[in-house]
Amino acid sequence: MADRHVAHLLIGGGLASASCARWLREGGAEGDILLVGREPDLPYERPPLSKEYLAGSSAREDAFYRPLSWYEEQRIEVLQRTSVMKLDVEAREARLSTKEVVSFDTALVATGANVRRLPVDGAQLEGISYLRAFGNAEQIRAEAAGRRVVLIGGSYIGCEVAATLTQLGAQCTIVMQEDVALSRTFGLDAGRFFQSRLEEHGIRLVAGVSLERFEGDGEQVQRVVTSSGEVLDADAVVIGAGVAPDVMLARSAGLALDEELGGIACDERLRTSARGIWAAGDVAAYDSVVNGRRVRAEHWDVALQHGKTVARSMLGEDVVHDVVPYFFSDLADWASLEYVGPARRWDREVVRGSFESGEFSVWYVDEGRVEGALSVGRSDDLDHARRLIASREALDDVSVARLGDAATDLAQIGAR
Ligand SMILES: Cc1cc2nc3c(=O)[nH]c(=O)nc-3n(C[C@H](O)[C@H](O)[C@H](O)COP(=O)(O)OP(=O)(O)OC[C@H]3O[C@@H](n4cnc5c(N)ncnc54)[C@H](O)[C@@H]3O)c2cc1C
Repeated sequence: MADRHVAHLLIGGGLASASCARWLREGGAEGDILLVGREPDLPYERPPLSKEYLAGSSAREDAFYRPLSWYEEQRIEVLQRTSVMKLDVEAREARLSTKEVVSFDTALVATGANVRRLPVDGAQLEGISYLRAFGNAEQIRAEAAGRRVVLIGGSYIGCEVAATLTQLGAQCTIVMQEDVALSRTFGLDAGRFFQSRLEEHGIRLVAGVSLERFEGDGEQVQRVVTSSGEVLDADAVVIGAGVAPDVMLARSAGLALDEELGGIACDERLRTSARGIWAAGDVAAYDSVVNGRRVRAEHWDVALQHGKTVARSMLGEDVVHDVVPYFFSDLADWASLEYVGPARRWDREVVRGSFESGEFSVWYVDEGRVEGALSVGRSDDLDHARRLIASREALDDVSVARLGDAATDLAQIGAR
């Protein structure tokens, strides 16, 4: 027997849930909205954690999605430091860590993702951090500013954190499996552009190697040993080895999961396998009509957009999620990038503008279809990329080549 009933139960205290709550009210929802989150803070934006919050130039409150007063005005109840321990999709009830049992009309599972931990020797030493929450950023800032820091991973977290810590006076080295930083997502040429920005500011990159082990004095990390046998002195280590969607609750509730992508399997309306239950954000693997395949994307804007789609759907609208995934990344103030996609594979890269000028877009094309596009200083190009990605149109060779011709109006490319 439930202790109480709500119209909308939002599980997870991140952006996807907060956005859903917002759009429920904006869409005219009148029933109770209950948002349950494990963390001590109100829902917040994580991008500042590797940027201005890590740098110490912004406060926690600046990262909050909305201040407490907004939740009160909107009659959105937020339970912090509270987990949903059990979800019964048949009885449509959730048991909270407070022992309270809440029944619901509709529910959202937006449990996000957890960092991937690297179980190597020495992993328990102090001074080794992962970055997901405010507290991690504070610890990294305290341990790393002005010291020798080794970053594990050549993707966004490793590169962004290295850039921010360098500005705080740290001497940073990135250890990565890739030959070129950020190349897994953006290819070698764009990757080299970003890597040169890092190197110009004194960051050393140790490429094409794995982490072998950490060494220390029994308590504190002192060295990082790579698979090639190189030994790097370190006062602090930050690991950015990706994240794994948090499907613990979904799995125990019997929701269908996507074993290949990880995450909760959803249809094109972000509905899970259980009636009246949706998923959103980092944890949702959904049939994307704009990408023509199932997609799971761990991006800030994706969480916001998913939340909005789910809210409209909860309110009875027949809404397919048709937003092209977008993200951004900043390497301190040395380079800012934006990207739409995600391209899973491509057989051609077309560059518009030039790397030398520092303003370019790169178009990732597979069998004539635009699958993704990267912009540095050419945001407007991404509007056209969104249209071409969503159209799924196979362009002929001439049209593909014109993507790279800055004199060609992108609006003229592809069927209109
Ligand atoms: C350091 C960092 C920098 C980033 N920078 C960028 C960037 O520059 N650009 C970009 O596009 N994206 C960036 N991202 C990614 C972006 O922040 C995420 O994609 C986004 O936060 C996902 O939101 P979410 O709501 O799906 O999940 P989360 O933010 O992970 O929120 C889920 C919440 O649910 C809680 N939870 C889990 N299980 C339960 C349960 N059973 N009961 C209650 N609560 C539960 C979790 O503790 C968590 O607080 C960054 C991420 C990090 C960590």
